[in-house]
Amino acid sequence: MKWVRYFNEKREQYGILRNNLLYPQKISRDINGVEEYLTESFDPQFEVALELSESSTLKWLPPIARPGKIICVGRNYAAHSIEQGKEPESIPLLFTKYSTSMTGHNAQVPFPRHSEYFDYEVELAVVIGKTTFDLKPEEDPLDSIFGLTVANDLTARDVQKSEKQWTRGKAFDNSMPIGPSVVPLKDLNDLSNLDIWLKVNGELRQESNTSHMIFSIPYLIRYISQVITLQPGDILMTGTPEGVGFYMDPVSTLQKGDQITSGVSGLDELHFSIQ
Ligand code: MG
Repeated sequence: MKWVRYFNEKREQYGILRNNLLYPQKISRDINGVEEYLTESFDPQFEVALELSESSTLKWLPPIARPGKIICVGRNYAAHSIEQGKEPESIPLLFTKYSTSMTGHNAQVPFPRHSEYFDYEVELAVVIGKTTFDLKPEEDPLDSIFGLTVANDLTARDVQKSEKQWTRGKAFDNSMPIGPSVVPLKDLNDLSNLDIWLKVNGELRQESNTSHMIFSIPYLIRYISQVITLQPGDILMTGTPEGVGFYMDPVSTLQKGDQITSGVSGLDELHFSIQ
């Protein structure tokens, strides 16, 4: 079951992707803006289908409309710390993005006006499905997860490096392409052994595996929820592996016209371009 959100026929809609067919679903959001399928058993309908090839005007939207929080983990792959001359982290390095940071699959991302070095960071994104605070040792953090999707933590690298806080460098509008679909945790294999990659104009730039995360997803959920209540619809960005453009020799950050393909095994690929 792959959950998507899109704009078609002049309105926002939800659907399920199956075998390259899109099945529209009537999905509402609660008073907090949380999609009902994240927290309740939902009875999918498969009577009407759209063939995606015939839906060229369809615009993909971030699969979660308004996450209450987007919590990101910096430098969670040791090789990404080492490529920038830093020691691997000993405690999780956390920062945030916002719902306004998000954009959808196939987005045309504007080159940020406040940066010259605009960089890519493919990440596995976790969608929370259960209110979680201060887990007991016997409680399993994986039970807090609804599903997974692909995202990018696009970064104005020069701004990130020149300011003490990362908000302007990382949380600006369109800095987080995400999607296209959310795959429930139960439909995925071991989260600690998923391939993750990113290509720019067809050239492989990032290639790793979630087994190389310094802090595992269960560890991060337990750690963060000691002090921050995680709620359904919240998104956890789990860090990017090595191979970002700024630390390549020569520097190979993004340029207008670049086409980016990014993926995690078991999830649909996320594509976007720079305008
Ligand atoms: Mg990142």
